[in-house]
Amino acid sequence: MSLCEGCHAGCCRSFAVPVTGADVLQIVRHQGLSFWEFVCRWADPDGSIAGNYAPHVYFDDEPDAPFVLCLTHVPSDQFPGTTRCRFLREAPDSNGKGDGTPPVGAACGIYADRPVACRVFPAKMMPRNELAILYEVPEYGRPGKEPAYRLCPRQWTPADVDPIQQVQDLVVAQYEMNFFTTLVQSWNRDPGPWLAFPDFLTQVYDQRVQPNPDASQAALRLWNPAA
Ligand code: SF4
Ligand code: SF4
Repeated sequence: MSLCEGCHAGCCRSFAVPVTGADVLQIVRHQGLSFWEFVCRWADPDGSIAGNYAPHVYFDDEPDAPFVLCLTHVPSDQFPGTTRCRFLREAPDSNGKGDGTPPVGAACGIYADRPVACRVFPAKMMPRNELAILYEVPEYGRPGKEPAYRLCPRQWTPADVDPIQQVQDLVVAQYEMNFFTTLVQSWNRDPGPWLAFPDFLTQVYDQRVQPNPDASQAALRLWNPAA
């Protein structure tokens, strides 16, 4: 049984999940949602959301405010007064104890299309030797002892993950976040309105496949003049 089975998914409740452009467009296409139905910009003045992972994006309405593009959160039914990722499906009913204890169990509602950040948790790639390592998961994902934000029941071990899939997911995560960071750097040279960002994303990703090397250089220069 996987470590996540039966868990109330404290990770999907605690964290702001940064997304890449590819994550966003995959969800738009496969889930039939618009950008505005699941993406938000979270202000990140101290860099705690972005960490060393996601880029800061700037917009012309608040030119000095660094934002990270994340999945939106909504109020939780299972744990009143807390929030969860809008894609988390909570256990619908009680746990049968009838004692007011919150029901256990929750699952990702877009598992096949979940962002790369969700796929790789709690692993990262060692840049020097290209091996994956598991990092220590804290007891709670947010300050305090709120049960909703309690994380994994025990620390992960290598036996809990697939060594092929995990590393492949990490490679894709790294590639997609690097690509997204490059295009965000281009956007940040002359930040436009938040409302224009989805069209910018679509335009860039629509050009990721070109018919020949000359066309690929021309396409790249449209959004990345430094290329
Ligand atoms: S997309 Fe799925 S796995 Fe990722 S935080 Fe949301 S519910 Fe959890
Ligand atoms: S908190 Fe840990 S065990 Fe629970 S769903 Fe998230 S990763 Fe899995």
